[in-house]
Amino acid sequence: MTDTTQKTSGIPPEQLSLQSKFRFNCHKGVKCFTDCCRGIDIMLTPYDILTMRKKLDLTSEEFLAVFTDPQILEKADLPVVTLKLLDDERKSCPFVEDKDGCVIYEDRPTTCRYYPLGVGSLSYSGEKGEKDEFFFTVKEDHCMGFDENKEWTVADWRADQGVDLRDKVNDGWMELIVRKKSLPLSMKLTEESKKMFFMVCYNIDKFRNFVFNSTFLERYDFPKEKIEEIKKDDISLLQFGFEWLKAGFFQTGRENFKVKEKNKQ
Ligand code: SF4
Ligand code: SF4
Repeated sequence: MTDTTQKTSGIPPEQLSLQSKFRFNCHKGVKCFTDCCRGIDIMLTPYDILTMRKKLDLTSEEFLAVFTDPQILEKADLPVVTLKLLDDERKSCPFVEDKDGCVIYEDRPTTCRYYPLGVGSLSYSGEKGEKDEFFFTVKEDHCMGFDENKEWTVADWRADQGVDLRDKVNDGWMELIVRKKSLPLSMKLTEESKKMFFMVCYNIDKFRNFVFNSTFLERYDFPKEKIEEIKKDDISLLQFGFEWLKAGFFQTGRENFKVKEKNKQ
């Protein structure tokens, strides 16, 4: 997510609801145009990688190699990826151009869409699918967007920026992270499980290869329609992967991953 520790005012953020209002506008005319696309820490979501690699016409493996840095998310102890910045003076994002701004604007990452909003969660009940979210504005001293006159509700901003759709696709990923964070530190995942998490969440082509070119489909009893759906659609495959990880990590929804009779011992 955006590094909110840099050059912020130090005032604790006010909690906002979906109906709360804030003033903000960002356009080519602001003096700080593209300042926020340098020296930042952008965690990429699984859906970001699906759309960005498609835009760039790369495989997920190629995208990971060229544009990301692997990290370990503290507390959750899970692998994540951040956008690899250029090695220039300002540590610029590889997709920013001084004059035109973001060259992948239609496919920019979720974190860039959220800005200048941040999101937090007071509680999370994955089983019931309930989230108790709140929002706040991230006011960085260099950002002049807050001096503009356009008024938004949080809900309007989210819809306008395409955040709602992205959060919906990434929900299973977020649930895995939040639930893993809430476990005692002594409950560790094996290295193999962490590799599976990485493959499902960030390397969709490798995961597809794993599902369709290994003994995976021989082991489990899935309806034919499900197999057809995940074969055709990356988002369905990704969400199938989240469910599979949840069943493995937390024993949730195991009934959807029934072992075939012939494989039972
Ligand atoms: S107004 Fe804020 S978000 Fe827009 S370019 Fe300037 S720093 Fe970035
Ligand atoms: S992806 Fe686009 S919006 Fe996001 S930091 Fe890079 S240039 Fe800026």
